[in-house]
Amino acid sequence: MSVAERARSPDEAIRLGLEPDVAWYKAQQIHPPIARLCTPTQLADSARIAEWLGLDPTRFGGNNSGENGDGINDDLLGDTGQLPEDANIDVDIKFKDFDSSKFSNILWKCGKCKVATNLISAIRNASCLKCGEQKIETVHIRNLIGLVIRDLQNQAFLGWAKCNSEDCNAITRQVTVEGAGDHCFQESCTGRLKPLHFTSKDLHQHLIFLMELAKKYRPEAVDIVQEAVDANAYDTINLVDLFSALTIRGV
Ligand SMILES: [Zn+2]
Ligand SMILES: [Zn+2]
Repeated sequence: MSVAERARSPDEAIRLGLEPDVAWYKAQQIHPPIARLCTPTQLADSARIAEWLGLDPTRFGGNNSGENGDGINDDLLGDTGQLPEDANIDVDIKFKDFDSSKFSNILWKCGKCKVATNLISAIRNASCLKCGEQKIETVHIRNLIGLVIRDLQNQAFLGWAKCNSEDCNAITRQVTVEGAGDHCFQESCTGRLKPLHFTSKDLHQHLIFLMELAKKYRPEAVDIVQEAVDANAYDTINLVDLFSALTIRGV
């Protein structure tokens, strides 16, 4: 029976004593927005969210080429609720337009021809692009990744911000609690503080790029990136903290 045929007005449902189709509401109304909210985190994919909701996770996991991209299935009659999964997209396609210039000051230098290669190419290639004779060892790549991560962390943790008011242009590392925490600290200035350069969100995106690259080309170096992602904790939702304001009566 189609959704239209099964649907009843609230009055009619009460009169006939009908029960709501809980599974349908979970799959159609609850799962898609939660999955969209959780997209920036790496922790909750749509299958896992389905599992938390008590739905069959196998129906929410894989790629579904018929999706319209926003997680809402046009076909409400069939097998519903599958979300687009980007976990399987190749890193070279997914990060095609990623600005990797932050990695460009870390170089791998060939011991044979002395030509330097930037870190991203060095991760991708097994041997020197110029002479083809020198193997690019993963142990060396690990060291370079360690260096670039430290460099990026330093940039992100400096925390400099600049007032966006043209009359003010104050530069500060002071954090204010007014408004959204971005009000300029200068009295009588109505400007907003904008992060200068590199934020912890930028750091997170760079680390994720690096991690996916490592997964494809240098699996033995993934752990070092994973460590930095965990330390940054940008994508972590602490549910205990989040719901700490809520108490359940009688517990
Ligand atoms: Zn070379
Ligand atoms: Zn200002």
